[in-house]
Amino acid sequence: MNDKNHQHVVILGSGPAGLTAAIYAARANLTPLLIHGPQPGGQLTTTTDVENFPGFEHGIMGPDLMQVMEKQAVRFGTQVKADTITKADISKRPFILTGQSETYSCDVLIIATGASAKYLNIPGEKELMGYGVSTCATCDGAFFKEKNIVVVGGGDSACEEATFLTKFAKKVYLMHRRDEMRASKIMQDRVTKNPKIEFVFNKIPTEIHGTKKDGVSHVTIKDTKTDETSEFKCDAVFLGIGHTPNSALFKGQIDMDQNGYIKTKPNSTYTNVEGVFACGDIQDHVFRQAVTAAGSGCMAAIEAERWLEGGH
Ligand code: NAP
Repeated sequence: MNDKNHQHVVILGSGPAGLTAAIYAARANLTPLLIHGPQPGGQLTTTTDVENFPGFEHGIMGPDLMQVMEKQAVRFGTQVKADTITKADISKRPFILTGQSETYSCDVLIIATGASAKYLNIPGEKELMGYGVSTCATCDGAFFKEKNIVVVGGGDSACEEATFLTKFAKKVYLMHRRDEMRASKIMQDRVTKNPKIEFVFNKIPTEIHGTKKDGVSHVTIKDTKTDETSEFKCDAVFLGIGHTPNSALFKGQIDMDQNGYIKTKPNSTYTNVEGVFACGDIQDHVFRQAVTAAGSGCMAAIEAERWLEGGH
């Protein structure tokens, strides 16, 4: 391996968690290398207006926010590299990361690879993402005041999103592919009691219609029992069909929960592997917010710095 690729600190991932870790690590003179894969900037680059990130009174576009964060990290000495890591060995130090273009070794690894929302992979979905299609009610719900919203899914996420959206929406249609919810009893009760939420069972959207200019107009839906299709009018579609943590690289090498989220020690970013820290959505399936991810990125950098200072 080429020596020039040995780094003190490598941060994997360039969402709010990774970039905030980079800002703090760089300002602590750790000259971190931040490696990002095929989606630089992470999930926020798939949204439009971000109105809940503190410091932006009038909101900021998701991709712009990530660009500014990256510039801030670079200003303090972060090196940023685009390379998709295909293999990681964290069984001993230095840790080894094999990328598509280079191999890296490091003393400290901060994992900020995030989670990816699951998609239906239907026509119109990707095209209208940020223009009426969303995977985050907390982020985008306020754009749909007095509108009719379809929430897809039958689990806790879908119930939570649907309940939150009733703060703004005229009506929320909870569309599920079966007639039995997967969600916990308490979440189901909450949804059932909410007069603004209506269940649409045994249906899946097969196409989302609309334009970037005017947003979503309707969805084509299919009855999962009869295969019949019909049109369903709505102004927005929120996907609540779950998230996948991007942790496959580390499977079997680090403690994870049953869904693949990396476990961190309470109120910290320490993992069970000495020298490996995890921050952002890769270890948080509860809040999943840019600002909480950024907060945990800050924690990871400070904890990494202290860990190194401790003589490791
Ligand atoms: P989940 O439990 O896996 O539920 C996903 C839902 O989406 C299921 O109802 C599933 O339908 C549906 N779905 C999946 N793929 C689909 C597709 N291609 N087309 C149509 N529907 C599809 O995911 P989650 O709701 O995100 O929950 C994940 C974990 O986080 C759970 O353990 C949950 O309890 C937890 N969580 C907790 C809270 C809370 O307590 N406040 C909030 C959110 C999440 P089927 O049911 O037919 O499979």
